[in-house]
Amino acid sequence: MSQVDVVRLLRDLDELARIGAHPGGGLRRPGFGSEVAEAAGVVVGWLREAGMKAGCDAWGNAVGLLPGRGEGTLAPICVGSHLDTVPDGGRYDGAMGVLAGVAVARALGPGRLRRPLAVVGFADEEGNAFGVGCLASRIYLGEDVGPARGRVRAALDARGDGGLPRVELPRPAGYLELHLEQGPVLDRDGDLVAAVGAIAGIDRANLSLVGEANHAGTTPMDTRRDALCGAAEWVLAVRELAAGSGGRAVATVGALTVHPGATNVIPGRVELRLEVRAPDAAVLREVGAACAAAAERVAAARGLEATVGGWHRTAPVGLDADLVDDVRGALADQGFAGRVLPSWAGHDAKVMAAAGVPAAMVFTATRGGRSHCPEESVADAAVAAGAAVLLRAVERADARMG
Ligand SMILES: [Zn+2]
Repeated sequence: MSQVDVVRLLRDLDELARIGAHPGGGLRRPGFGSEVAEAAGVVVGWLREAGMKAGCDAWGNAVGLLPGRGEGTLAPICVGSHLDTVPDGGRYDGAMGVLAGVAVARALGPGRLRRPLAVVGFADEEGNAFGVGCLASRIYLGEDVGPARGRVRAALDARGDGGLPRVELPRPAGYLELHLEQGPVLDRDGDLVAAVGAIAGIDRANLSLVGEANHAGTTPMDTRRDALCGAAEWVLAVRELAAGSGGRAVATVGALTVHPGATNVIPGRVELRLEVRAPDAAVLREVGAACAAAAERVAAARGLEATVGGWHRTAPVGLDADLVDDVRGALADQGFAGRVLPSWAGHDAKVMAAAGVPAAMVFTATRGGRSHCPEESVADAAVAAGAAVLLRAVERADARMG
């Protein structure tokens, strides 16, 4: 059975973490930027060493292809993640999945699998540069991303391709992504790795609460229609509704504007932004509707007018049952509990799955559940476990797909 070279993988992680390292701590590799190009260049070098045909596609994504022993027309099994980071981000988010892909390619070598193996390092997942999350994988899959596409093209043309050969990623037969959980669950429970079964949908809405602006000194307390007091009550109601879902949903009011926003004026109007996430579509709808109903209730009790609107919905995405089974089998092969978690954050795997590419994910424990910050950390044992499970899942998928 093939084995991942963990020492080399940990060294690669150290080396990639130098690119975009900020003196104040953390990494700065904005999507499609020069630091991502530098990271792609390093990864492409390692992919070549592993016996792959490697380079960048037309959009600056690092791509490596390892031939299988089957006929050349077979679609590859693809492993990977992203090479960009959030501002002052951590060294594992994205990079671990790409470098584990490199490690899998190294462990396998050409002709070991029936299908070709592809490794991809997407050039923009975080979406901060052009305002669209998972932008690189969306463009790769041909999704309409509006004006962002032209802006990316212009940025890439200005930046240049770094002299790397052009290698395009064929549409894969399956996509497997190793990623840190970015939450506290596995770390808290003492588990190193898990499979991901579904990726949460995200519903966002605006709430406007309107009362009456008036003098903060001369208006008696019992005649006020204070929109901010209603907003405060609603924020807590949203918290309770999500908490009451028994872990099946989370909800946040993350933005609030008070009008007119003066010390001596009773707030006449408050605008709030609600976000609900759930891996189950029915639960997502249910909690969102309950939040809207709570706004009506609060408004009625306080003499306010509530308007909930502007819903922006992104459906949850179930990952491919067969590929998730491959990951669960791989967990069992490596002696780990076959735990299946939902992902509460979006990933390239979600975009792949939404576009009809069978996709699955492997999560590793995240120390203290901290991510998108310089302190982000994954124990060496969890990196090793994640990469070993990824390799085994690839082998299982290859054997199953034929
Ligand atoms: Zn990520």
